[in-house]
Amino acid sequence: MANIDLHFHSTASDGALAPDEVIRRAAEREAKLVALTDHDCLAGLALARQAALDVGLPFLNGVEASVTWGTRNQTVHIVGLGIDPDDHALVSGLASVRDGRVSRAREMADDLARIGIPGAFEGAMAVCDNPEMIGRTHFARFLVNSGEVKDVRTVFRKYLTPGKPGYVPHQWAALADVVGWIRGAGGIAVIAHPGRYDLGRTLTDRLVTEFKEAGGQAIEVASGSHSLDDMHKYALLAQRYDLWSSAGSDFHAPGEGCRDVGRTDDLPPICRPVWEHLSDRIVKR
Ligand code: AMP
Ligand code: MN
Ligand code: MN
Ligand code: MN
Repeated sequence: MANIDLHFHSTASDGALAPDEVIRRAAEREAKLVALTDHDCLAGLALARQAALDVGLPFLNGVEASVTWGTRNQTVHIVGLGIDPDDHALVSGLASVRDGRVSRAREMADDLARIGIPGAFEGAMAVCDNPEMIGRTHFARFLVNSGEVKDVRTVFRKYLTPGKPGYVPHQWAALADVVGWIRGAGGIAVIAHPGRYDLGRTLTDRLVTEFKEAGGQAIEVASGSHSLDDMHKYALLAQRYDLWSSAGSDFHAPGEGCRDVGRTDDLPPICRPVWEHLSDRIVKR
């Protein structure tokens, strides 16, 4: 196990712990370097950074931006590491990505009401700290808390995913825009959890090629949503495309998902760790 975790969430998006709490949890688990990467949102970074300074945990500003890519309108997530959270284009770009989450949530709730689950909008909002960041995880937690479904994983199997009740297609940002905002803010763009996209070889190659053309430089090889097979497959892909490798738990909440914050697998030896290129961006004191 490595102690470097460059992908996890707080209550600023769909995590269950406040930004300072999740940092203290990472420190307790002996993390050596962390990046908070909330979805489409930088609001948790100041509190997280201060908490990291307080406990002496090296910290990177991060974000996980939502992208709609390709002819199949696939949702792809791009992590930005070492960004300047005050960069104008990044701040306004992310605001435009957040825009539309509330109306999407209303449509999701209407869809659920049609199959006999009323009150989902209010229920999801009640477990969401940052209303403009309302998303599927908040709906999932509402469905679990109300006794409708036994756990979050089951919610996503039965609801909220393409073809299932409560799923509302959404247009996120363009890949080249997101990579451009991250690079413009001095950060490194990383393809998040590639093992989750189910793209096949040809589309994966196309995604990586477009990502690199836009200025993308790294890919998550160790991820809480990867199997060991995935990790080795994407280590080879990183080598083939000359990309740096990242590692992140994708932690959201205690007991949800399989990885705790601060815990990631060691990168295979063929990988070139992305953090070796971020040393001047690490906040230490
Ligand atoms: P949204 O940005 O509102 O579409 O929500 C995306 C979030 O939903 C992801 O970041 C995950 O936290 C969660 N999610 C999506 N698919 C799954 C899944 N199969 N199991 C658990 N959580 C999921
Ligand atoms: Mn999430
Ligand atoms: Mn993601
Ligand atoms: Mn994530």
